[in-house]
Amino acid sequence: MSREQLVVQQARKSFLTGKTKPLEFRIHQLKSLLRFISERRGDITYAVKRDLGKSEKGTELFETLGLEGEIELAVEKLAEWAAPRPVEKNFLTITDEVYVQPEPLGVVLIIGAWNYPWAITLQPLVGAIAAGNAAVIKPSEVSSHSAKVMEELLHKYLDKDLYPVVTGGVAETQELLRQRFDHVFYTGNSTVGRLVMEAAARHLTPVTLELGGKSPCYIDKSCDISVACRRITWGKFVNCGQTCIAPDYILCEPSIQSRVVEEIKKSIKEFYTENPKTFEDYGRIINQRHFKRVMALMEGSTVAAGGDSDESQCYIEPTVLQDVTGESKVMKEEIFGPLLPIITVSGVDEAVQFINEREKPLVVYVFSHNNKLIKRVIAETSSGALLANDCLVHFTVSALPFGGVGNSGMGCYHGRHSFDQLSHLRSCLIKQLKMEGVNSMRYPPHTAKKLGW
Ligand code: NAD
Repeated sequence: MSREQLVVQQARKSFLTGKTKPLEFRIHQLKSLLRFISERRGDITYAVKRDLGKSEKGTELFETLGLEGEIELAVEKLAEWAAPRPVEKNFLTITDEVYVQPEPLGVVLIIGAWNYPWAITLQPLVGAIAAGNAAVIKPSEVSSHSAKVMEELLHKYLDKDLYPVVTGGVAETQELLRQRFDHVFYTGNSTVGRLVMEAAARHLTPVTLELGGKSPCYIDKSCDISVACRRITWGKFVNCGQTCIAPDYILCEPSIQSRVVEEIKKSIKEFYTENPKTFEDYGRIINQRHFKRVMALMEGSTVAAGGDSDESQCYIEPTVLQDVTGESKVMKEEIFGPLLPIITVSGVDEAVQFINEREKPLVVYVFSHNNKLIKRVIAETSSGALLANDCLVHFTVSALPFGGVGNSGMGCYHGRHSFDQLSHLRSCLIKQLKMEGVNSMRYPPHTAKKLGW
């Protein structure tokens, strides 16, 4: 029997004892997870530094802070989320108990990605624990230092049978996917997403797929371009552009392109100094493979700012590309790196058309003072989320379901959505064995006299 098989069996056996059912147990585990983050903050930040060259404060700001917030919210709200949810009755059930009872699904497989190795892997776990599931946690092998720390330390805080960490690469993930789970929660690229869904289909296991894509960013010429570009620069170059919801490319009118370039240059300098390479708040590309991939995407485009790189350090300077077209190489796949192409369009009509001709993205960004224009973009495009006049921050609003649509994914999470996503919402109807008279209509014989029509 493989290690993966054993781990899943053990998780299921433990789940079937019913120990995850009491809310006190779940709250205890969630609080232990919180303790893990606060007591092992140093291990976590050091691992991320080695994986992605990120600063300590950067990791706290973009990884652990939100995670802690999600755990605290789940602890506070769990009783409310897990309680029976009465629903509207019809006249036949007016005297009955009619409600929805969330119940645990069973054993969940969480497959994480490397770009925010802690937030992305442990945030679904918060939902899995809150909903009363067991969960097998598979961190990405690409962020190997974080995966190792997770494997070595998490079991000291959480129930080790119910929430085991399985490390490894493609072979181990595929072996896990051969096992039967009650839900698979995958974060990563769309190609592997398809494989995950195929494997899950063999067991009729539902999936949540948190995928990526090319999130467009339209800048309306009438907006405050300076503020817009400052926010876009932050959203794009944080984590070296390795953020699933980073604005992938800019759409704007030709008349503002050079202003946009200048403002972004100004913000890059403000955030990362003249020399981002030696600045601690600017990280690195995860590995040589991705370095080469991102560098190759630049081919054939005009560099308007940045463009410097150092393969030995996996360093790519924040880079702006101008006069890019829909056919350029950089527009053929999600960039997932610090390149920001600008494509000029004649206005919002063409921007909407450009967006709609492509796969549905994770986010559509729009910068404008004109509320009507924003509402129009909402009405005429589709994406996992729409954010106007800022970047990334919708991720921090726990009340908003976070997820994609179409090629950018299916299902959603965060806050109560994580709880619901990893619960079965069971319909419950409790009748009494009284008032049998009212049922006479439904029993044969269905005579006209009995029915009255
Ligand atoms: P990755 O290479 O770490 O892969 C993700 C997971 O899939 C890993 O755990 C890996 O072991 C597993 N895997 C890889 N190949 C496999 C295979 N052939 N069979 C089975 N399992 C396999 O991460 P990635 O895909 O490079 O991540 C980047 C992508 O993830 C980007 O597209 C990004 O937009 C997306 N992403 C999405 C979100 C979101 O919340 N929607 C968050 C982060 C990243």
